[in-house]
Formats: sequence, C-alpha cells, structure tokens
Amino acid sequence: MIERTLVIIKPDAVKKGLIGEIISRFERAGLRIVAMKMLRLTKEEAAKFYPSDEGWLRSVGSKSLKSYSEIGKDPREDLGTDDPVEIGKIIRGWLADYLSMGPIVAMVIEGNRAVEVVRKIVGSTTPYSSPPGTIRGDFSVDSPDLANLEKRALFNLVHASDSPKEAEREIRFFFRENEFVDYT
Ligand code: GDP
Ligand code: MG
Repeated sequence: MIERTLVIIKPDAVKKGLIGEIISRFERAGLRIVAMKMLRLTKEEAAKFYPSDEGWLRSVGSKSLKSYSEIGKDPREDLGTDDPVEIGKIIRGWLADYLSMGPIVAMVIEGNRAVEVVRKIVGSTTPYSSPPGTIRGDFSVDSPDLANLEKRALFNLVHASDSPKEAEREIRFFFRENEFVDYT
C-alpha cells in the first residue's frame, strides 16, 4: 500500500549537522523523497502546524504523564497540573517555540506503508528510551521530565506524521501540488 508521509528535520537536528544523516536513513530503507524544502517558520506559523483539538492535546499530555509515573515523580512539581489536556496545552505552546527556533527541512516521503515505516526509523517520542538504531535513539538522550523542567519541548530531532490522515493535512501545510516531483 503506497502512502505519503511528512517528515520535518527539526531545528536541533539542523544545528547538529544531521540533515544528510537523517535523509540517508530514509533513502537506504527504500523510501522515496517526492518533495523537499528548507525554510524557517515564524512562531505564529509554527503554532498553526500542531492540532489543537482535545484528542490531540490529551494524547500528548497522557504520554507525558506516563513518563512521570515511570520515574515516580509528581507532574504537578514541574507543570502545576496533572490534567492531560492542560499538560497538552502547555506542551503545544513550547512546540511553537521549538519549531521556529531555527531553520527546518520539510519533506514528503513515499513508499509502501511509509507512515509506519518512517515512524519505525524515527523511533519513539522520547529519545532516551528510543532504541539504538533509531534516529531519536542514536542522536539524543532527552526526556520529558527534563524538557518540562526546563519549560521547553522535548528536543527529538524529527517530526513524522502519526497516521495517513494526519499526513495529508501536514503535507498540505507545507507543499502545493506543483512542488512534487514525479520520477521512477
Ligand atoms: P511524536 O509524534 O513522536 O513527535 O510525538 P507527539 O505527537 O506525541 O508530540 C509532539 C511533539 O511534542 C514531540 O515530538 C515532542 O517534541 C513534544 N513532546 C511530546 N511529549 C512531550 C512531553 O512530555 N514534554 C515536552 N516538553 N515535550 C513533549
Ligand atoms: Mg505526533
């Protein structure tokens, strides 16, 4: 099943000189880049990229809460709340700062089950627990509690769409129809 997914090389990865390394991991897996650009978003533009529906906020907040329960720490110490939606809102604000703090590279990747395969190559949300061999596991040791304590987003180098439906919306955010290159 051929799919398209959006990947963003985030500002921390560009700063670390990892653009080539990251792109090559997708290429060597047999995936195809069909659109790509380097750009810099304003904070306002970056804020529009992330969803603001309650489902998304709750999902991000719940993941963060899970990492607090794993380390046995009270999330209220760092965040002042243990409500997943409220935590999602706080993190969403930090994400706008993160995505606009430097240049990024956005690309559309195409291939069989591209959404799932790209997520596998990228690794899990939290770099310190992402396995070696994944982009996030190989190039970062960041964790949610450290990021929340420092009042910033988790610096995890890459964004990759969560589902084919999200991919469609995210691809439209960055690319117009005439920016795709067709080749075999
Ligand atoms: P992803 O799909 O793996 O990128 O993760 P999500 O969609 O759940 O979250 C979006 C982004 O929010 C992540 O890539 C991180 O940069 C950031 N983020 C996620 N969880 C946390 C957290 O618990 N704390 C902080 N500070 N940032 C987080
Ligand atoms: Mg996501």
